[in-house]
Amino acid sequence: MTIQILDAMARGGFEALHALHDPRSGTRAFLAIHDTTAGPAFGGIRRFSYREEDDAVRDCMRLARSMTYKCALLGVPGGGGKMVLLDRNGMDREAVYRFIGNEVERLGGRWYTGPDVGTGEQELGWLAEHTRYVTRPDAEGPGELGEATARGVVAGMGAALRALDGEEDWEQRTIVVQGLGDVGRRVCRELRSRGAKVMASELDPGRAEDAERTLGVEIVDTSAEFDPECDIFAPCAMGGILHDLTLPRLRCRIVAGSANNVLASPHHGDGLHERGILYVPDFAINAGALVRGATFHRTGERVPMETIEDRIGSAVHGILESAVSEDRPPARVALEVAEARLDEIRTSANGGVH
Ligand code: NAD
Repeated sequence: MTIQILDAMARGGFEALHALHDPRSGTRAFLAIHDTTAGPAFGGIRRFSYREEDDAVRDCMRLARSMTYKCALLGVPGGGGKMVLLDRNGMDREAVYRFIGNEVERLGGRWYTGPDVGTGEQELGWLAEHTRYVTRPDAEGPGELGEATARGVVAGMGAALRALDGEEDWEQRTIVVQGLGDVGRRVCRELRSRGAKVMASELDPGRAEDAERTLGVEIVDTSAEFDPECDIFAPCAMGGILHDLTLPRLRCRIVAGSANNVLASPHHGDGLHERGILYVPDFAINAGALVRGATFHRTGERVPMETIEDRIGSAVHGILESAVSEDRPPARVALEVAEARLDEIRTSANGGVH
């Protein structure tokens, strides 16, 4: 169904949606700015070949809003913004990212950008030659962001295990990691260092083979990635992977991973709850990179990994404690907490008037 953009913006509380088109570089992109009441918008650039423009707009808006929720839950003085770049064969990536860099600079600090799927060190390097408002991948930047995300994810997994069993007991745990990219691979390494058994799936055979050889991870075919019996299923690839067809296949006790917008729709969070699976909301557990990147941009401080683990671990603990004691789906609890904090921020920005 065609998206009614202004209606969707009004329903979701969006401030702006920019469409970028540059015939010279071939740039076709959308930038959604969700909410900047608490501070500038933070969010990366996703490069992906979307089937339809509508899909791109929807993804862009969903991702931007998640960034606002992450800021609200983790107490980051900022909001959410995200760009999706419509990828296609033969696109001149360098020209496109240089064009986007100039556009980011023209926004004057309203949106700070960084990595996401399809935007890595090389692309960030091109952007950084044109704008100050980007996470630099070099020594002048905040330090590794994928590692911050991965360490936050493992801290969140620990909080979920404690919520169910009262202990982490990693040596007795089996975790299935979907996706061995920047974050998934690091999650596997951290889990293996704690003595857990790790199974993983990956579309790229080279990445899979490397993880099997260097990390002692058991590789599962992607066609069977939802099926193994395990303690935790960790989605670290793309969003929207838990839906009517995949949900019944899960044989885990916990879902906890880095991917954004894991649930195809909110009712799939309810479905997990009905099946007795504890879902750790994505925008709470995967905020490590945001905490690190946003803090660095605003204060120049490089947040230590231990602090990231503590902050994500305690945010997840708070949400799961309420969800378990009230017997409610954690995704709904997390959304309510984030919305309530946003309301407080908006009210105080409005001089205390609702
Ligand atoms: P990435 O592109 O480096 O890795 C994703 C990996 O998943 C790729 O290797 C890809 O081949 C694989 N993959 C895709 N579909 C798969 C499937 N069905 N089964 C198995 N493997 C599959 O991305 P990343 O930076 O590691 O991020 C992973 C997820 O975490 C994304 O959803 C991203 O939005 C989210 N995230 C990342 C960060 C970060 O710091 N990088 C922060 C927050 C959220």
